[in-house]
Formats: sequence, C-alpha cells, structure tokens
Amino acid sequence: MSIWNPWHGCKKISPGCVNCYVYRRDESIGKDASEVTKTGDFDLPIKKNRQGEYKLKPEEGIVFSCMTSDFFLKEADIWRDRCWDMIRERKDLEFHIITKRIDRFKDCIPSDWNDGWDNVTICSTCEDQDRADYRIPILLESPVKHREIIMEPMLSEIKIDRYLETHLIEHVVCGGESGDNARLCDFNWIKEVRRECVRTATPFTFKQTGSLFKKDGHTYRIERKNQMSQARKSCYSYVPGMNFAESIPYKTPSRESLVKRLAQSDFRSKFKLTEEDKQYVLEKGIEKIRDHTRDFISQRLAPENPENDGKQTPMKGHPVFKAQHATATCCRSCLEKWHNIPSGKILNKQDQDYITDVIMDWINGKMKDE
Ligand code: SF4
Ligand SMILES: [Zn+2]
Repeated sequence: MSIWNPWHGCKKISPGCVNCYVYRRDESIGKDASEVTKTGDFDLPIKKNRQGEYKLKPEEGIVFSCMTSDFFLKEADIWRDRCWDMIRERKDLEFHIITKRIDRFKDCIPSDWNDGWDNVTICSTCEDQDRADYRIPILLESPVKHREIIMEPMLSEIKIDRYLETHLIEHVVCGGESGDNARLCDFNWIKEVRRECVRTATPFTFKQTGSLFKKDGHTYRIERKNQMSQARKSCYSYVPGMNFAESIPYKTPSRESLVKRLAQSDFRSKFKLTEEDKQYVLEKGIEKIRDHTRDFISQRLAPENPENDGKQTPMKGHPVFKAQHATATCCRSCLEKWHNIPSGKILNKQDQDYITDVIMDWINGKMKDE
C-alpha cells in the first residue's frame, strides 16, 4: 500500500473527530491541525523517477488518499480538480478515498465522472448509528463504482444490515480508537457487524482493538503496538469462502448454564409442545425425530452462509422448529450469541452433534411435561 496526502490539516465535524490522530500528532509538535495546507507530495501519483517511470507502482497496492485530512473538505475545493486529473491519469492505480463528508461528494466530482471510475473506492466512515443512518444512504445513492464502510473509531453498536442487503457495499472495516483518551470499543459491537456481514456475504475486517477494549465483560487497556495484532489473532475478519472462522477458538456453554439462561428469556421459555406435537413425536418415534433434527441442521444451519439466515426456522409446523427457537439453535446469529459457535464457520460433525443433543434434550424434557 501507499499513502498519498495531497494536503494536510482538517476541520472536526463529528464525534469520531474528537480524538483525531492528525490533531494529536500535530499538537505534539506544536502545529495547528486546523490549518489546511498543500503538501510537498501533492502530485505524488504523477511523480517520476530518473528513469522516467512513475514512482507509485500498481504492484505496491492500494493508494490510501488524503489520510491527514478529508478529500472532500471545503477548504480544499481549489485543489481537488488537479487531484482528479492525476487519478484519471493513473488508471493503473487503485485509490481509496476515506471521508466523513460523503454529503459533499456530488458537489466535488469532475464532469466526466459519470457513474464512477473503476480505480476509485469511496470509503465512508461512520462511528455511530446516527452517522451511519445519515451517511450510508448518501453513499449508496452516490454514483460510485466501489463502496466501503469504515467504522473507526467505533463508538457504539451500529446496525447496518439493511444497507448491506443492497449488496452495494464491498467491504466493511471495524476498529476501536487509539490514544490515551480513547473511548471504549465493545467486542460485542464488532461481532454484531460481523454477523451482518457474514449473513450478506460482505467481506469484513476487524482492523484493530483500539486502546480501551471490552470483551466478555472485562475492559482491557491495549498497547498501541498490540492493537492490530490482537485483532488479527482473533480471526474475526471474514471473506466469503475463505474459512477464517475455522480458526476462531470457542467453547460451547455447559448444559446447566444454557438451560438457566434460556429459562430467563421470556421469548425462549414460552415454547411448548402441544398434544398434537407430542402425538407426532410418539407416532414417528424419537429416533426418527433425531434424524429430522440432523437433516434440518445440516441443510439449514451448517453452511458457512445458510440461505435466508435468521428466517430459516418457522415458528411452528414441526416440533423440532419449536425446539430450535426454545434452545436458540434457530439461526447462525443465535448459535453465536447463545452457544458461542462463530458465524461463518461451516458446522462440522461435532458442532452438529452438539446442536442435535441440545434440541433432543429439550424435546425429551417437554414430552414428559403434563
Ligand atoms: S474528518 Fe478525519 S482528519 Fe478531519 S478532523 Fe475528523 S477525524 Fe480528523
Ligand atoms: Zn435465531
């Protein structure tokens, strides 16, 4: 990857800017980051070496553009057209433009932009639900060939499933905030977005933990040098078909703690077997019901990305369906939240046997109820 910073300095516009690293770094050397100035690297994409070759080469990968400012900053309106000229000239390079000002995008594009350029990815950041609900619809309706969402620093839980369902988002990146005054990032928020990405087959990167990271109820201070490596080690990034989830360590809950938790849920504990259901089980025999359970699991839950995930288990129609809702084995999201089985993992025999046992235990228990 390369970094191209045509100008430096920015204006804070949203909660994600509070601890902006450009400001932090500039303050540490007595500089005012709110002053926006052109840099010596302004024309980096078209700079050539002595042999007359471009300095930036496609094999070096993505050119992250305007990382010490915002490409769509008003103060930079006078310089941007020249940047578009360079981007147009370097069709061989892949430019990623990260912005908090997607609402200025349409006013800032060149006249020959049409429905977007192949070599430009527009990455809209959104740090909380409000920003997501304001910026992502604009990103979706903007004429862009490649779209990415960046939730960094992630400051709250953010639901983006309805945006991902458009299949217009190519990649989602999540991460916490770094620095001494960093705000907390909760691993549950990251996992929720990841589940939405798996469900919609959208590539997802868990980039960094940030400095203040909450996991399993504990809050940890993570040193800068470990923030990216810890995120990487968690294996919580996702690319469809790459089986990263195979490496996520997990432990299913003890039956005792599971039963206790399920009993505390009004929704889970309301499921019962009717007389008709019981009759059905008796007629088929418990071994046949176990076979049905195995079939449902292998067809509707086991794939990396099951069809209609979240809606694949009807509320009635078969005693096993009721048992699945009662035991939170109805979809991949519930399997992760209640049983710790990671979304995106292809369920192996051991996983499938575990789920079958949980369901059959519930059915056997309910058969005894008066
Ligand atoms: S938009 Fe980005 S660069 Fe500008 S102040 Fe906010 S965080 Fe900093
Ligand atoms: Zn479910």
